[in-house]
Amino acid sequence: MYWEKTYGGRDAFPCLVRTILSQNTSDVASQPAYDGLCERYDEPDRDLAAALAVADRDELAETISAAGLYNQKSEMIQEAATWILEEFDSAAGFDKYVTEEAPEKVRQTLLSIHGVGPKTADCVLLFAGGQSGVFPVDTHVHRIYRRMGIAPPDADHEEVRAVLERDVPAAKCGFGHTATIQFGREYCTARKPACLEDPEACPLADRCDQVGVYPETGEVVDPADAPEAE
Ligand code: SF4
Repeated sequence: MYWEKTYGGRDAFPCLVRTILSQNTSDVASQPAYDGLCERYDEPDRDLAAALAVADRDELAETISAAGLYNQKSEMIQEAATWILEEFDSAAGFDKYVTEEAPEKVRQTLLSIHGVGPKTADCVLLFAGGQSGVFPVDTHVHRIYRRMGIAPPDADHEEVRAVLERDVPAAKCGFGHTATIQFGREYCTARKPACLEDPEACPLADRCDQVGVYPETGEVVDPADAPEAE
């Protein structure tokens, strides 16, 4: 259903900024914020991290306001930019580190940045580093694999990630991540999974345990709250 793409090749710092902007919001809201930020601060002869590290905080917050939580996010972006300059001298130095170092080492480094959680770290590893064997777990991935019975119903994000990275071939993890998000938007949505009204409507129905999904009553609960999980 979904076409496989190749991953990697994005610059690591813009990728990090973009992922921070997308936290707790949709792509529809975060994209204009990212575009506005690039328009204002990304100049051809200037390092983006250097520009953002010294940017006026209020101006930056206003620029990214469409993404929501703009005070928090502008602080996180500036802290990340300052840290990258201290550690790697430039956004380009950071990019080289993300692309060339061992994924687990890069992951731990990224997690040490204020505001960077596992999903953000894994997206940078995947989209910038092109690292295989990384299956970022966002809210769709977390929901779907617990519903399907592939991960335990009460598994947290890290536990779902561990199951997927163990069982999915390394080269397929990146594609698995993006295809699952698309599937989560089109079929297995949080409140109204396709199978709720029509068992035939979901292409994965014959492989799914439907944990927390009850077509008989039309009820949907988080898999961790399903009676089977207790
Ligand atoms: S059968 Fe239902 S719960 Fe399972 S993956 Fe499809 S839409 Fe989601």
